[in-house]
Amino acid sequence: MNHTLPPITGRCTLVGAGPGDPELLTLKAVKAIQAATVLLVDDLVNDAVLQAYARPGARIVHVGKRGGCKSTPQAFIERLMITAVREGETVVRLKGGDPFIFGRGGEEVEHLREAGIECTVVNGITAGLAAVTSLGVPLTHRDHAQGVVFVTGHAKTGAGAAEDPTDWRALAATAHNARLTLVIYMGVSGAGHIERELLHGLPGDTPVAVVQHASLPHQRHLVTTLQGLQARIADAGLASPAVIVVGDVLQGLAAAALPVDAGRFGT
Ligand code: SAH
Repeated sequence: MNHTLPPITGRCTLVGAGPGDPELLTLKAVKAIQAATVLLVDDLVNDAVLQAYARPGARIVHVGKRGGCKSTPQAFIERLMITAVREGETVVRLKGGDPFIFGRGGEEVEHLREAGIECTVVNGITAGLAAVTSLGVPLTHRDHAQGVVFVTGHAKTGAGAAEDPTDWRALAATAHNARLTLVIYMGVSGAGHIERELLHGLPGDTPVAVVQHASLPHQRHLVTTLQGLQARIADAGLASPAVIVVGDVLQGLAAAALPVDAGRFGT
């Protein structure tokens, strides 16, 4: 019953806040944040971004699950966005990295569209990209990697391999044969499982890096081999948010960090 709904006067923009460093925001992101009257902010977004660019008086709603708070249900966030847009607000949904990489941005755009609201999307620099670049390593290289796979490791949280929807063995074989770099998001807690499965298709001495808090002053990283992945993560105490990078593009870094098994730690 369209005639019962008030006309939509507000607007909505899904904005990628990048990996953390406010200087990695796009100009479009900055403009959108400055124009927002309502900001719905994910927990991976650096507060410095809001401090620098949110307008005084803007309503800022933190909808993330870190810092002891429970995650705000996705349906509630979407209702909030729709209501605010209908009330005429300029809404910015601010997400870490890029909104369309593992950020449920796709679902949000679909639900807004179903509610008759078109949403603009502003790209952000995704964490995997920033993580690898911060090590001075390219994601592709004519001698080492012909492509990149961004993959989530989230599905594995200690359960058996049968419950993991990601076919790591197939992925490892493809990465090996087609020479691809793997960039694994949300993989630290399942690193043992990922390591074991990937070893079915990739050599144990394949270089691996783990980067936590990429682009932030407290960034930490380690470089090791696939067969040392879980042990080194445990030794170093690296935890989420971190990305795991697997592939021969890291060879130079691994060589510089010899002995590789001891890894290297710190920036
Ligand atoms: N949309 C985001 C990803 C959201 S999923 C993006 O494009 O970056 C959340 C995962 O992203 C984390 O578990 C972690 O694997 C990764 N991540 C986000 N920010 C990060 C950072 N600063 N450093 C390392 N990994 C990060």
